[in-house]
Order: sequence, then structure tokens, then C-alpha cells
Amino acid sequence: MEIKISNYLIREMKKCQCFQNKTKSDNNLKLYHHYKFPPPLEPDYKIKKYDRKILKCSLCGHFTAHHKIKVNEFYKKNYSIISHGKKMRIKFDKIIKLKSKSDNYQRIKRFLKFFDKLKKKNISLLDVGSGLSVFIFGLRKKVRWKIIGIEPDINFVKFAKTLGLNVIHSNLKSKILTKQKFNIISLNKIIEHVKDPVKLLKISHKHLFRDGYIYVEVPDGKNAARDFKGHLREEFFIDHLHVFTKKSLKRCIELSKFKLIKLKSIREKSGKFTLLAFAQKSKINENKN
Ligand SMILES: [Zn+2]
Repeated sequence: MEIKISNYLIREMKKCQCFQNKTKSDNNLKLYHHYKFPPPLEPDYKIKKYDRKILKCSLCGHFTAHHKIKVNEFYKKNYSIISHGKKMRIKFDKIIKLKSKSDNYQRIKRFLKFFDKLKKKNISLLDVGSGLSVFIFGLRKKVRWKIIGIEPDINFVKFAKTLGLNVIHSNLKSKILTKQKFNIISLNKIIEHVKDPVKLLKISHKHLFRDGYIYVEVPDGKNAARDFKGHLREEFFIDHLHVFTKKSLKRCIELSKFKLIKLKSIREKSGKFTLLAFAQKSKINENKN
């Protein structure tokens, strides 16, 4: 009997606790890096006492940020200014001019390759955290879908208006989209910025039609960490509360009741290590977990 109990406990301890907001009690989390200064290329967020840790799960390899710095405050107003400078138009033009050498060009290419059969159909797409709008701007040139962005930073929203794009000034958690459903929801480098990625994906799930899809891109921590001085790379900058591995992204998507279709690790044109996933809302999966 005793052996059975301890085996049970060992098994429980060895269960991955990632995405359950149990950072303090999770025994599988080990220190990956303790940052006492910002990495040299990190944007200056004017943080007074810079002290943060990144913990790594010894089971799935997932990286979780551990600090008291209020990262969410970044996105309401000044994220656009700090991370893109005041000249958004210049930054935007620069990306467009890069053509096939830009991350965004490649993103649109693989995205439309995956959705080839839907290209000519009547599709609605919601892009969460549309930022500079390069993704939806590029998409609009290729397909005649109904495309909407949602973005919490007013500077980005105003900029999107100058491009004639439909971007709502809000976030997915607000009730602004309560009754709206979409065929596809894209989250490009978004879920790593929130405390609870599963919660955000679950909200996305509610905003999809029955056979709807999500497209997710996140920083790839496993490959970034392998690089020379990997912990100083942008994948581990302060605005990322989560840095993923293939295993952890799969788990995050499945915990959110999606059926994973495609999961891939890539090195982007900019040098970023990225994981991407396509998943579908699925009735079969709804009873699990
Ligand atoms: Zn884990």
C-alpha cells in the first residue's frame, strides 16, 4: 500500500503543471536565468528596479516569467511608441519594402498555403493584437475576406485607420465582440504576452464557428536557448511571460479544447526562432480535460 501511495505521489509530482498558474508550488520549475539587468537589445521600458527570473519546466521545457513588473501596462498606450518608435509609418514601409525577406511575407505565404481551399470562399478573419497591421494589410491584398483586427494600443488603431483597415480598439477579454463569430482567428506573437494563454485561446474558441481555425505564432524557447547567449535573445525579453516549446504549445492548444492540425518550428528571416500552429475547433475534443 505504501509503495502504491508513493508511486502515485511521484507520478503526480511528475505531471506537468504548466498553464495552471501554479508557479509557486510547481516542483518541476527550475531557474533558467535570473536577469538583474535588461538584455542589451531589449527596448527600454524605463523599469526602476530590473529584477526578473525565467523558470523552466523540467518536463515540457516551457519557460515561464517570474517577476512583479507590471508588463500589462506596456500595451495600453506606449508599447507602440517604445517598441516601434514614433514613426510607425516608416517602420511599416520598411517591412513592406522587404517583400519576401520579411517575416510577414513568409507568414502570409504559409498561412494562405494552409487555407488554400478557403481562399475564394466567404471567410471572416479576426486578427488578435494586430499591432502595425502588416499581416492584415498583406492579407487584404490577396483575399476578399472580411478582415477585422482587435488591438489595445490606440496608436496602432489610429495607424490602421490610415491604411483603411477595420481595427477595433479593444482586447479579446472585453465584451465588444460578444456575439460575433469568425472562421479564422489569428494570434501572431500574442499569447506569450499574456499571463494565461489558455484563457485567451478559450475566448478565441468561443468566437469561432463550429469548424473554425486558429493560427498561432509564439517564440520558440528551446531553439533560442540553444543559441550562443540564447538567454539574451529577444525570445526571452521582458514582455514575454511565456516562451514555448513544441511540447508546451501543443499542450496549451489542447488545454484550450482545440484539435491541433499542424505544429512547426521555424527560423524566421529576421532570425527569430518561432513556433507556429494551426488548430481547429472540434466537437470531438470538447469532452476531454
Ligand atoms: Zn511543463
